Amino acid sequence: MPRFSGLVTGALFAVLLGSVAAPSLSAQRRRPADAEARLDELKATAAKEVDARATLVQQVVDQIFSFGELGFQEVETSRYLVALLRREGFAVETGVAGIPTAWVARWGSGAPVIALGSDIDGIPQASQVPGVACRMPLVSGAPGHGEGHNSGQAVNLAAAFAVKHIMEREKLPGTLVLWPGVAEEQIAGKPFLVRAGVFRDVDVVLFSHVGTEFGTSWGATWGSGLVSVLYRFSGKAAHAAGRPWQGRSALDAVELMDIGWNFRREHLPLKQRSHSVIVDGGDQPNVVPQTASVWYYLRELDYTGIKALWAVADSVAEGAALMTGTTLLPTRVLGAAWPRHYNRPVAEAMARNIAQVGMPVWTADDQAFARAVQRAVGQPDSGLKTTVDSLDPPVPPARNLGGASDDIGDVSWTVPTVVLHYPANVEGPPGHHWSSAMAMATPIAHKGSVAGAKAAAMTLLDLLLRPALVDSARGYFREVQTRKVKYQPLIRPGDQPPIELNREILERYRPAMRAYYYDAKRHRTYLEQLGVEYPVLPDSGGTCRVTVRRRAEGR
Ligand SMILES: [Zn+2]
Repeated sequence: MPRFSGLVTGALFAVLLGSVAAPSLSAQRRRPADAEARLDELKATAAKEVDARATLVQQVVDQIFSFGELGFQEVETSRYLVALLRREGFAVETGVAGIPTAWVARWGSGAPVIALGSDIDGIPQASQVPGVACRMPLVSGAPGHGEGHNSGQAVNLAAAFAVKHIMEREKLPGTLVLWPGVAEEQIAGKPFLVRAGVFRDVDVVLFSHVGTEFGTSWGATWGSGLVSVLYRFSGKAAHAAGRPWQGRSALDAVELMDIGWNFRREHLPLKQRSHSVIVDGGDQPNVVPQTASVWYYLRELDYTGIKALWAVADSVAEGAALMTGTTLLPTRVLGAAWPRHYNRPVAEAMARNIAQVGMPVWTADDQAFARAVQRAVGQPDSGLKTTVDSLDPPVPPARNLGGASDDIGDVSWTVPTVVLHYPANVEGPPGHHWSSAMAMATPIAHKGSVAGAKAAAMTLLDLLLRPALVDSARGYFREVQTRKVKYQPLIRPGDQPPIELNREILERYRPAMRAYYYDAKRHRTYLEQLGVEYPVLPDSGGTCRVTVRRRAEGR
């Protein structure tokens, strides 16, 4: 159980942190005032260095938005980012962990080793013209950045390049590592990176994730962990009208598994969440389906709960095979995520930096656009937040109702990790949805990502210049977080990353999507290239009037 129970929590943390944090606190007290002053000065320089890279941030945000690639098919995205990193002098290893679109970029030498990560994949059917507050796909049916994963690498690159410049000038030791969250939406990348040893020599992971707020947290978060399992059944084909008695329907097994699961749901712990899609439902009605498969996400609050839920699902699948005279083939684990737990000392340092950076300055246009996006999905039109969030404390297990998952959980149980939420999107949309793409290549995303890059760069400097902080991070990880709970992978030794996922979707849509790839050499921004005069708001009849230009027309 990666949790501490109710009343014990506060006392336990106090005792443990007392023993862990004491040396670092006294070390901090001994730290000469000039070291403090130097750190503050370098942080101010870092913020300026990030501002000097605002165009880089805008270009990376816009470029990856325009690629709009789904998990494991982030081919253009990875090629683009790897080229940028190599140009900056990073040594990049590609095809990491058997995943063609995963890479690890390194620069610098010695300790500490700080790894910056962020997701890069999009959402199915979320193609959307940015800067337009009406549903308007760029390519109908195509994927798009309906979460905002196009912005996190812009945050990380700007922060890393700014700090690299400072490290070179100040001759600071340390190693910067950049890496992508591949196929986060399938929860299918990070456990494989952990297994491949990507984080073996890493001291701290700073992860960036798009948000509508500017903040961070420590301890156990809200939400769930999960295992993602493909159940495949094998039956016997037959003429469905002529000789049905000779057939055994694999689709029947899938349907009965779903029915069985939905009855069993009543008797599952309240905090489970589970959902499925049928990925193979047979070929045509007059052929008894000889293959069928159903893909389940099984979510629970902790490792033990996930394993228990998974065992129930396995038994329901076996029962469905028995009822239908079909065979349950060996299951495939397509992905997994541990529940998340973030590092207290690093989160506290990051929160101070967030407060110092403050929220971006939103214009009246930004606020009008945000309100229109909120109205477009029937949400209160509160606009964009104007104050930073406080540091979120741990979520007590008793109050965690479960929810979304993120495979950063596996990283967070492997190495001290924090997640920076930077304000680059609009609050209100249902999530995993085209409306969450509307703002993601507009000044809202650009300014929010610049603010995030400043907080990330300043936290990097904290880690590089205050060895005591890295010690406290390690102390919290060892003595508090993992004192009773040890990471055990949910992926099994034989499970391989499902790199074939989404291949057919991208093969179908990529040719049409290419007509809208951002060409930063010809156009200052993606909005300019598309001919979108931001913000495009609906008229009184609810219509957004805009003619979107294809890339080819500009040539
Ligand atoms: Zn995400």
